[in-house]
Amino acid sequence: MAHLPSEPEFEQAYKELALTLENSSLFDKYPGYRDALKVISIPERVIQFRVVWEDDAGRLQVNRGYRVQFNSALGPYKGGLRLHPSVNLSILKFLGFEQIFKNALTGLMMGGGKGGADFDPKGKSDAEIRRFCVAFMRELSRHIGADTDVPAGDIGVGGREIGYMFGAYRRERNKFEGVLTGKGLDWGGSLIRPEATGYGLVYYVGHMLEVAGAGSWEGKRVAISGSGNVAQYAALKCIELGATVVSLSDSKGSLVATDGGHVTVEDIEAIMELKVKRQALADYTPKGSLKYIEGVRPWLHVGQVDVALPCATQNEVSQEEALALVAGGTRFIAEGSNMGCTLEAIEVFEKERREKKGNAIWYAPGKAANCGGVAVSGLEMSQNSQRHAWTREEVDQKLKDIMKNAFYLGLNTAKEYVETAEGELPSLVAGSNIAGFVKVAQAM
Ligand code: GLU
Repeated sequence: MAHLPSEPEFEQAYKELALTLENSSLFDKYPGYRDALKVISIPERVIQFRVVWEDDAGRLQVNRGYRVQFNSALGPYKGGLRLHPSVNLSILKFLGFEQIFKNALTGLMMGGGKGGADFDPKGKSDAEIRRFCVAFMRELSRHIGADTDVPAGDIGVGGREIGYMFGAYRRERNKFEGVLTGKGLDWGGSLIRPEATGYGLVYYVGHMLEVAGAGSWEGKRVAISGSGNVAQYAALKCIELGATVVSLSDSKGSLVATDGGHVTVEDIEAIMELKVKRQALADYTPKGSLKYIEGVRPWLHVGQVDVALPCATQNEVSQEEALALVAGGTRFIAEGSNMGCTLEAIEVFEKERREKKGNAIWYAPGKAANCGGVAVSGLEMSQNSQRHAWTREEVDQKLKDIMKNAFYLGLNTAKEYVETAEGELPSLVAGSNIAGFVKVAQAM
């Protein structure tokens, strides 16, 4: 596409998917799906707009806002809003593209989309965040709706921002409807939505451990990156299930356990409070044996771990870090973030899976392993449509079922379309990509 500007993140996400389809028997069995891939690779619609807001000093500020409505074959566009200074069309197209197949893997009726703005919430006051969110929704509100496009949170957007935006939508459109998910419990939110991505990730990896014959979560050493919504609840669930968490991180550095220490529930609760105030991990004074290391990601500093859960952002595991994890004996890698691993890192893990049969490495891509967040968003949409709220137990059970189905769908689809040698674990990346793609292509 030489006439178009380069979109490195989107091209990476496309390549990752397309390569696994090419290397399977899918296109031999169904040649028409090659055309479907061409069609799927272009968003149905991209909306780009200006967001003008006033800062606390009374000065005008302006940002670029976007919504990529990528594919609606399975239902209304669905996917989060990211507020981060790095946001551009390439990043939102990669996230929207991933979201199409992720949403398909949940088994719920949701299309794929993503949006956001290059606004940096760090260092902003609550009033500035509110004015930005209201200005953002003033424009976005004309393009979305409960049966059209249902945004939610992503990096930089949590319950507070969803609240500001929901209020703005009601005023703009004079409608109370389930147009956003991740809402507060008093006004249409679902129980377990804040926990869903992290819990779902841990449930998914539970199936990986079991099928690989590695037992349960009990006693496993786990390295986690990130310290936001996904990392927090993944860490809490790991601890609840008897695992030892040895790291967390943010964009400025990592908190790593030393001398046989570990991250505690108290650490995570203190970090949750800190993050609501938009402070950095560096502002936390760890108790016990945790050490803060500035300017690094955790992977080269965690020593021997059984499980690695990248839960921060895209491309946060490089080839070098993948090799270090493998050398340190890590056997299970699952992404809580979207495209957490580079293509080179994935190839390191996949090569180990193919070559070391008995003690193989198993890698799960974000579109499968982190689909619990959007899955409970889908459950929130169902509850909104019924004007009803399910109990915590009901939602948690549905989340467990969805994660189990997503895992086995990926596993069984890999067995069906990709040749594996005797004793080789099937590729979860290939299986999940093919399963998600086939569902959308068929619907199209
Ligand atoms: N941002 C989340 C994701 O990457 C959740 C999206 C949603 O709930 O719509 O899947």
